[in-house]
Amino acid sequence: MAGCLFCGIVAGEIDADIVRTGELTVAIRDINPQAPVHVLIIPKEHVTNAAELTPAHAPLMVEIVAVAQWLAASEGVGDSGYRLVSNVGADGGQTVDHLHVHLLGGRQMTWPPG
Ligand code: 5GP
Ligand code: ZN
Repeated sequence: MAGCLFCGIVAGEIDADIVRTGELTVAIRDINPQAPVHVLIIPKEHVTNAAELTPAHAPLMVEIVAVAQWLAASEGVGDSGYRLVSNVGADGGQTVDHLHVHLLGGRQMTWPPG
């Protein structure tokens, strides 16, 4: 989608530290990490957020979780634990309007989240 930051990264027009490219997703390091491990799993297709997902996106959702499992292991947090979070809309704290799942790990997460 024109003007979308993450579409630009997926297209290779905007630089990012790409950790893994899958069939339907790209995983990049967050530019402003909130934990020792902070990776964003992004669909190649523009989807605004989880509120737009439908059953037709089932393969995408499966790949996102599979990539998260792979990343957790490769980043060394598979055993210690980690958090997967996807912010939706204004109150959810979403700042980039292209679906992404944060994988955060390498420190103790707190609850409730801020
Ligand atoms: P949100 O706030 O929408 O849940 O998450 C957006 C995330 O994208 C934030 O954690 C922010 O640091 C990250 N981010 C924003 N701009 C860029 C960028 O240009 N490159 C990368 N790698 N991450 C970005
Ligand atoms: Zn986009």
